[in-house]
Amino acid sequence: MGNAKECNSRNIPLPVQREVRQRCGFGCVICGMPLYEYEHMEEWSQVQRHVADEITLLCDQHHREKTGGLLPKEVAREANNNPYNLKEGVSKPYNLYFSGREACVEIGGNSFTCEDQGYGTAMAPISVDGTPLVGLILADGHFLLNLIIFDEFNAPVLHIKNNQLFYSVAPWDIQLVGTTLTVREAHRKILIEIDFHPPGKVVINRGRFLRNGVEILVRPRNILITNNATFLSECHAHNCYGGLIIGHHQQPIGGFMRLDSIPRYLGDRKEVLRFEKECMDKDPVIHQTRN
Ligand SMILES: [Zn+2]
Repeated sequence: MGNAKECNSRNIPLPVQREVRQRCGFGCVICGMPLYEYEHMEEWSQVQRHVADEITLLCDQHHREKTGGLLPKEVAREANNNPYNLKEGVSKPYNLYFSGREACVEIGGNSFTCEDQGYGTAMAPISVDGTPLVGLILADGHFLLNLIIFDEFNAPVLHIKNNQLFYSVAPWDIQLVGTTLTVREAHRKILIEIDFHPPGKVVINRGRFLRNGVEILVRPRNILITNNATFLSECHAHNCYGGLIIGHHQQPIGGFMRLDSIPRYLGDRKEVLRFEKECMDKDPVIHQTRN
């Protein structure tokens, strides 16, 4: 029966899985861990149905403890009624295994790479108004990844601080599956999708970086700063401190692209996207910028 249960557990319909994630705060209900399994609270052999209210999230350890009987059902049930991440408002941190003397961040087909040159090498592939949205530090064989994702309301929803990943429970959906972390604002609306390739590489091919009315749209093969229709494709920055540097920085950062003043807005970007499409249709090459 164990096998049958496992097989069926994997086939929980996706909307049901999402409902469970939302209700459980995108983490193990007991410890908040962002890596978890879907666990039927009732014996599968008895219920044989996938109802969101009857399914909870448990990390490997707590799942094993529950299956083995060390974790009483009542404790799991209590945690399910009051999940760890919803109590805390933020997920339990998860440590990413980045290391080494070289780092590569690919964003929309553009690459930002650096090698450890001693004294704590740093790089800010994307920085807006003094906040590095993506930052790398290389020191003593450690590659430390830093990242902040803001939502449409300018609130930070996802952090990676020196390889420690944690998120708020505010977004509509967050999922870490395999090496891919996806934050969704709504059905079919991805805020950011990040692919981790430890020990030395990170790839971001879909989503948007938002900060103070700046929107940097990332697609598999390009970046579009929608505020001023700046289009970046196949650019490569190597061993330079600043990548895409937008807005006011108290300590000026040299970058391979610096935009000090940029029109700000929050919201509609249809016009820019239409403009871009018209340009692309006319001549796809002309709007490529190269470093
Ligand atoms: Zn747990």
